[in-house]
Amino acid sequence: MTPDNALPATPASGPRSRIGKTLSLVIPMHNEAEVLGELFHQLDLATADWGVTVEIVCVDDGSRDRTLALLGERAASDARLRVIALARNFGKEAALTAGVDAASGDLVVPLDADLQDPPRLIGEFLTLWEQGFDVVYGVRTDRSSDSAMKRFTANLFYRLFNQVSDCPIPASAGDFRLMDRQVVDALRQLPERNRFMKGLFTWVGFRQVGVPYARPPREAGATSWNYLKLFRFAFDGFTAFTTAPLRVWTSLGLLTALGAFIAAVALIVRVMVAGRDVPGYASLMVVMLLGFAVQMLAFGVLGEYVGRLYQEAKGRPVYLVRERLGFDL
Ligand code: UDP
Ligand code: MG
Repeated sequence: MTPDNALPATPASGPRSRIGKTLSLVIPMHNEAEVLGELFHQLDLATADWGVTVEIVCVDDGSRDRTLALLGERAASDARLRVIALARNFGKEAALTAGVDAASGDLVVPLDADLQDPPRLIGEFLTLWEQGFDVVYGVRTDRSSDSAMKRFTANLFYRLFNQVSDCPIPASAGDFRLMDRQVVDALRQLPERNRFMKGLFTWVGFRQVGVPYARPPREAGATSWNYLKLFRFAFDGFTAFTTAPLRVWTSLGLLTALGAFIAAVALIVRVMVAGRDVPGYASLMVVMLLGFAVQMLAFGVLGEYVGRLYQEAKGRPVYLVRERLGFDL
């Protein structure tokens, strides 16, 4: 249990007890029919010795396979199961938000459907929660199940993000974590549409601790991500937690202005000393093209932020629910 980041890791409030508590598992699902059988099998095995009441909130994120049908069948015989069907595919972050909103437990644990977040670890999470930690998150030590490229890009992301963001996120921590109700309520207060959950989870603070675990490969089925999606996701993360890409243009602009000033002085002096030169088409062109390119980039970055402001300003809901199964109301 070594927190690999700067977050404080000292429990203060002292021991708590899990007796009589309810734990909500929140599982976002997008085309996970193939893995459902094994998932529920593993959950039955794991939940037996947690010593808490378990509620399973499954969010069907617009699956096009039999995920929802299978969940429906299971909900008929499993009183622990609650199913939320979103109106379409809203993306994992939105699905997770929907699930966390609907979870009624004293403790909430988001979990991937593909068993890449091993449910048996939750027993350990519970012990740490009892010791006074409000958030216990899994830290992926062995990512050998991910491709070299995925690991490289993920590393790059964490390094860049933590350099520029005021709120560093622990590298290799995912959404897999146990959260106290206090933390969940804090999360639910955040009004933003851009739900970069990893960042938000850390931003809320509280007493957090990491538990290292080896991340197993996907149990069955296929990942819903590709590099383009991951890149967009990373960009959402950046823009949600730092304005550094906006500010960088100020320094770059100042530097360019300084360079231009020096060049202007040098040119004037040269004309005064050596007389008029052959018209410098090439140098002029280079400077202009470079200047244009830099300005376009700066506009682009501005545009990204303005676009996101627009998204937030519209205030559309993060997700829409089409159907709910297994809830009391
Ligand atoms: N997921 C989702 N909506 C999406 C994409 C993914 O709810 O649009 C769910 C998916 O069903 C799984 C979790 O998010 O439970 C993680 O997705 P996946 O395993 O595909 O991602 P990876 O592990 O490859 O990062
Ligand atoms: Mg996965």
